[in-house]
Amino acid sequence: MNKDNHYSISAILDPQNRTLQAVAKLIISPKVRTEALTFLLHRDLTISQLQAPMLSTWQSAGKSTFPFTAEAINWELKFAPALMPDTAYELIFHYSGQLLGMPWGVNRLTPEWIELGLYLPWFPWNPDGGLLTYEVNVQIDPKYSVVGAGTAIQQSENIWRLHATQPMLDITVAAAPDLQQIDHTVEQTSISLYFTTGENEAALNTIKDDAIWVLDYYQNWFQDDAKRHIDVVIAPREQGGGYARPGLIMLSTLADHQPKQAPMLFKYIAHEVAHLWWAGAKVDSWQDWLNESFAEFSSLKAFGTKLGTAALESYLAERRQQLPGLPPIRGIDRQAEKAHAVLYTKGAILLFDLEELIGEQKMSTLLRERLRRQVMDTDTFLLLLEEIAGPEAAKQFATWLDC
Ligand SMILES: [Zn+2]
Repeated sequence: MNKDNHYSISAILDPQNRTLQAVAKLIISPKVRTEALTFLLHRDLTISQLQAPMLSTWQSAGKSTFPFTAEAINWELKFAPALMPDTAYELIFHYSGQLLGMPWGVNRLTPEWIELGLYLPWFPWNPDGGLLTYEVNVQIDPKYSVVGAGTAIQQSENIWRLHATQPMLDITVAAAPDLQQIDHTVEQTSISLYFTTGENEAALNTIKDDAIWVLDYYQNWFQDDAKRHIDVVIAPREQGGGYARPGLIMLSTLADHQPKQAPMLFKYIAHEVAHLWWAGAKVDSWQDWLNESFAEFSSLKAFGTKLGTAALESYLAERRQQLPGLPPIRGIDRQAEKAHAVLYTKGAILLFDLEELIGEQKMSTLLRERLRRQVMDTDTFLLLLEEIAGPEAAKQFATWLDC
């Protein structure tokens, strides 16, 4: 039995009025006896109707404290009698609203660009619910094209169906009236690149070659060639940066790209593509270093191979200057001001130091085994390191996480 939560959502999007009207059907199988469940939903959306078995009360219960959903409200559902473990229950949410959100947000619903996901939680999301699969039917003005994580298929003039069978953390849906697509294949690896009017043609060409190159590089290095195709979407927004979902890389606009920035563009896409492998550790705690430091380390290894050791060494030397005074990785608050520098820069440099300590070959074995065994917490990672490189190396690395 599939234990991942499964969503079936029908959503009507009106980009001109920035409104969303949706019915979300969720199948959940609680792991333990459950008397209450909390769902996050954007504050601009109101639940008008909720159907669930054994539901005794449901109400909004203040702002969410989850670090990446500043605009979310908690909805608390109580069940009597409690939901029983390993039993499938169907919850149906009817909700709607004008989804304005913060103008600098990653996710938005505007006439020019629609990008829906967890950062502006547009579907009722349970932070403790684990991974999810979904099918989403999007009804939208026929002049819009839709893309997202999973497979997007146009069903009729104004209905798109997005389908994800691979478990994910999020439901990502993007759409634009002028969405264009280029497909690019080199041998067995391919990408589909999506972008809107005004993107920089030279940068798009660079991106499509870099994406293929880096996909091949990681597949060889990690000895995992299951990821032969990705969709790369260039969002027409300057703020918010990029992120990765299984099979999908979302990047911010390249419109102002200068040719001399090509190395940094390479590192940017290499970091996001690395998340196709490095994902799944808890993102709302310091354990996120297992996602971010590994993605950054991987991208810098790719950077060194593509652009040469000298380019990598000078980049790392510059980054090392940022380390003094940074707090330890272990225990860093994900919302702390220095969390980014600690989880990305410091963590990646510690992994270079670890590689220096144990050698390239053992480092590669460590990475491959971490992926193969799906190690998602630091204690298990340290045990794996001990198994591959010995107790001294593991002890040494543990002290680095603490200083
Ligand atoms: Zn990242």
